[in-house]
Amino acid sequence: MYRFYINKTDDDYHFMELARVFLPDDSFETISYSGNPVAHLIGDNSYFVNEKGSNDREEIKREFYGLLSQITGMAPPWGTLTGVRPLKPALELCRETSVGSMKKTVMEKYLLSEPKASLLADIADYQLSYVGGIPWEKASLYIGIPFCPTRCAYCSFASNVAPAEEHALYLANLLREVSYTGRLAKENGTDLESIYIGGGTPTTLSSGQLEELIDGVASAFGIDPASLEFTVEAGRPDTITKEKLDTLRKLGICRISINPQSMKDDTLRLIGRDHSADDIREGFRIARETGFEVINADLIAGLPEENLKDFESSLGEMIDLGAENITVHTLSVKRGSRLRENDPAYFRHNAETVSAMLDLSRDMLRSSGYRPYYIYRQKHQIGALENVGWCLPGKHSIYNIRIMEDKQTVIGLGAGAVGKVYHPAEDRLERIANVSNYRIYSERFDDIISRKNEYYK
Ligand code: SF4
Repeated sequence: MYRFYINKTDDDYHFMELARVFLPDDSFETISYSGNPVAHLIGDNSYFVNEKGSNDREEIKREFYGLLSQITGMAPPWGTLTGVRPLKPALELCRETSVGSMKKTVMEKYLLSEPKASLLADIADYQLSYVGGIPWEKASLYIGIPFCPTRCAYCSFASNVAPAEEHALYLANLLREVSYTGRLAKENGTDLESIYIGGGTPTTLSSGQLEELIDGVASAFGIDPASLEFTVEAGRPDTITKEKLDTLRKLGICRISINPQSMKDDTLRLIGRDHSADDIREGFRIARETGFEVINADLIAGLPEENLKDFESSLGEMIDLGAENITVHTLSVKRGSRLRENDPAYFRHNAETVSAMLDLSRDMLRSSGYRPYYIYRQKHQIGALENVGWCLPGKHSIYNIRIMEDKQTVIGLGAGAVGKVYHPAEDRLERIANVSNYRIYSERFDDIISRKNEYYK
């Protein structure tokens, strides 16, 4: 057991998160202390950090990073940055100075590797050129459909395999929540900037149910779906039919997401998907024929038993299929997923291969005309790496950008939805989460409805 005694810190959490990047959870302790280190009992694997007593947290983190690197021989490329939103501090620096000097600062202050600093610079550059200011007075709307045809091995989302009658019961309650919240939003003059229906896999619903839901949203919030960015996830190709996609287009939806994760049949089987790569090709064909303006495709680097060639071939095919957005995720193995149950340390393997996959994705996507436009990190990602959304210029998803900025209210409806109220005066977000279990959602529906008032108190 390693014991790290950190002088003059009252935020043990950040140091613990940094140590986690290098070491398994049960192999270390971080302990705050102040004063004379000799007063502390230390064993063979005990180390003192910040003996000189600096008050600069970033300086102490840099020292801690150096110590952890020395012990483990690792040099994680995100340096001392452990947060979910690495772009946030970078964008603030860009606004104060320039993209070029931001890059230099993040390398010095947070010890980012040059490629990661360049990635942040490219994303900042894209957002500053194509997205502009943040309309904090507007809101985003997220609606969760917590059903999928099967559960993927790495899934930790609110996703369930449920019979059709449970879909119907869920939808009936969801429509009541939509109607109640839409009325509140109209009374308070809320202007929606974007809408995202995710989950789960929304296209698990039938064509008629999708129509009922989108009509319900349009009338409750008083919007025309064609007049704002409106995305529906059609993640699993085994839920896609021509009828459903025709319905979405007829209602004015112009963006969908088809999420292969991999184009290798063996991998799809291994992760518990009940479809083939050919089904994904067919999903794309139907979506193109139906006339969607933007198709997003999610891929995952680090899926079980995949090598660099497998990843290259999946990505190459997405580029050839002309997906306007390609989101490259690093596999995250969270609690609640089958992969994690089978091997709790899964995310500690294959960091080098996954890192090579991300480097390859950067080179292939850049040379095919894509630009990185948003980024986030999750806990328990292989190598503490990142997820990056790439787009053809001008085809970015504003919803994805806003949820990472944390400067706009997100109204969250449905099981598993997490809403946030933005308080501009204090530049603060207040979280309003619905329960994630869809059965409890239906049972506690009255509570869920009454919490909607919190968006407007
Ligand atoms: S498609 Fe997504 S939400 Fe559904 S089971 Fe797989 S990972 Fe979970």
